[in-house]
Amino acid sequence: MVSKGLLVVVSGPSGAGKGTICKELLKNNSQIKVSISATTRLPRTGEEDGVNYFFINRDKFENMIDGDDFLEYAMVYDNYYGTPKEYVMNNLENGNDVLLEIDIVGALQIKERFEDAVFIFILPPSLEELKNRIIGRGTETLSDIDKRYGSAISEIKQVIKYDYAVVNDDVSRAVKDIEAIIRAEKSRVLRNYEKILSKF
Ligand code: 5GP
Repeated sequence: MVSKGLLVVVSGPSGAGKGTICKELLKNNSQIKVSISATTRLPRTGEEDGVNYFFINRDKFENMIDGDDFLEYAMVYDNYYGTPKEYVMNNLENGNDVLLEIDIVGALQIKERFEDAVFIFILPPSLEELKNRIIGRGTETLSDIDKRYGSAISEIKQVIKYDYAVVNDDVSRAVKDIEAIIRAEKSRVLRNYEKILSKF
């Protein structure tokens, strides 16, 4: 499907800093709409329902799967996560750009569906730094930390499936890189051809 708005998909291993980068990106780019995912994971301290995620139970999540309410969903670190379809489709149809911060399995489902979405992979500066960040966050149990860190290398190998890689050694620079990617993508001739023809 070709959308009126740009669908931007951001992935990367846990601790790469996707959340921080996306938050900064949205601060300065109010035209970008962020999709709030649904998850069966329990809220962390400070997380709010309807803000960080829609926190729902497994039954409700599985009902939503059956109702075809998700654009994509995946089981990540033993919990379901999914992108509710309606919000994204409405915004794209209205010409708004939409940001999805999702895992790789979900990103590949989006790739099947949206031929003109742009896929950005956030890399940590090093594996050592990645581990420090996951531990430093202080939000996961030791077994969760191991699970997340243990998946990092195989996740990073999937970078080849993405269009762009952005190294998060400095948040504001990483945000600038993403803004540049979005600007370039929105200037693609194919995305603008009809508009150009109508004017000239
Ligand atoms: P966290 O538990 O740290 O908030 O997120 C764990 C992982 O789930 C992250 O890699 C995050 O990008 C991913 N994730 C969050 N929302 C979604 C979603 O809607 N779909 C998929 N496939 N992954 C998601």
